[in-house]
Amino acid sequence: MAAIGMCETPGCKSVAQLQCPTCIKLGIQGSFFCNQDCFKKSWKNHKIIHSLAKGESTDASSVEYNPWPSFSFTGKLRPFPPGPKRTVPPHIGRPDYADHPTGFPASENAAKGSGQIKVLDDEEIEGMRVACRLGREVLDEAARVCDVGVTTDEIDRIVHEACIERECYPSPLNYHNFPNSCCTSVNEVICHGIPDLRPLEDGDICNVDVTVYHREFHGDLNETFFVGNVPESSRKLVQVTYECLAKAIEIVKPGEKYREIGNVIQKHAQANGLSVVRSYCGHGIHRLFHTTPNVPHYAKNKAIGVMKPGHCFTIEPMINEGGWRDEQWPDHWTAVTADGSRSAQFEQTLLVTETGCDILTQRSTGRPWFMDQLEKLNAKS
Ligand SMILES: [Zn+2]
Ligand SMILES: [Zn+2]
Repeated sequence: MAAIGMCETPGCKSVAQLQCPTCIKLGIQGSFFCNQDCFKKSWKNHKIIHSLAKGESTDASSVEYNPWPSFSFTGKLRPFPPGPKRTVPPHIGRPDYADHPTGFPASENAAKGSGQIKVLDDEEIEGMRVACRLGREVLDEAARVCDVGVTTDEIDRIVHEACIERECYPSPLNYHNFPNSCCTSVNEVICHGIPDLRPLEDGDICNVDVTVYHREFHGDLNETFFVGNVPESSRKLVQVTYECLAKAIEIVKPGEKYREIGNVIQKHAQANGLSVVRSYCGHGIHRLFHTTPNVPHYAKNKAIGVMKPGHCFTIEPMINEGGWRDEQWPDHWTAVTADGSRSAQFEQTLLVTETGCDILTQRSTGRPWFMDQLEKLNAKS
């Protein structure tokens, strides 16, 4: 039996004392509240979980879940109620922010200002290789379940459990108070989408971004998956986004400037009539989740630094069908395209070597999941 954690009412930080009786009856994990009062306050949104479990209609209009009545959405996607909070067993090593009330990463903050890019020694490189390999295994587990009718919260559950099985802490969990164990970014969501109880629909595209923390090192990667039969325009968007990352990785070697990466990515995106997100960048990664260097994906950027053997960082271009501008939902996380057009992303963690780079989060087959999915779609038609 899992330990009773915190109350699930958003904003309530009290220890939970009771569990929703309907959830117990329906076999829904979690659903803990601090007291009857909080439970009653959450009821209107909470009861939607019951409808979902019973397979009742869940389209956004019929469930009437709207946490921000005055917000104008840029596209068709809407938030759904959150799933249960998840906890990590105490025997698994945790980053400093995991237990901070606002999820503040003190060690990351302390490293700011130096501007120095860390050169990892052999032992640290081995730590990164292991964390990144485990991160890849976790993302592959998510890829296997991502399908029509599956909620993004279910993907989060799979990611969470896959992390724990591998003695990993899911790095996003409580990072600046992020509520879940991975990011799931659907259609017009650029990045940092929060998993919820919305079932994925035929034709959606869904990015899953996984970072794991294992024995003091973070490994970070993401892929965009097809959900069922996706439109031709989205197939092209996903394909070109993947190519943008691949072309950027090709130039990674000692002596190359970090600012060159954005030139390569924007050139390829623009040639295909697509645009590059400017607000979110790749980042250094090792003992810290996000650190120097900053790696913009757009052209003519002023990023500082030259690549050296032993540097670890991510490249994670976000490419839009429409304009490059982004907006944020009132949850302060979900980044969406300002014009509601779709956005795709791919990410790998890289290690600069003497001659080029190692893709530490590479899939064993060497190719992304969407290509396998595309093959199946083409075989059907
Ligand atoms: Zn990531
Ligand atoms: Zn990242």
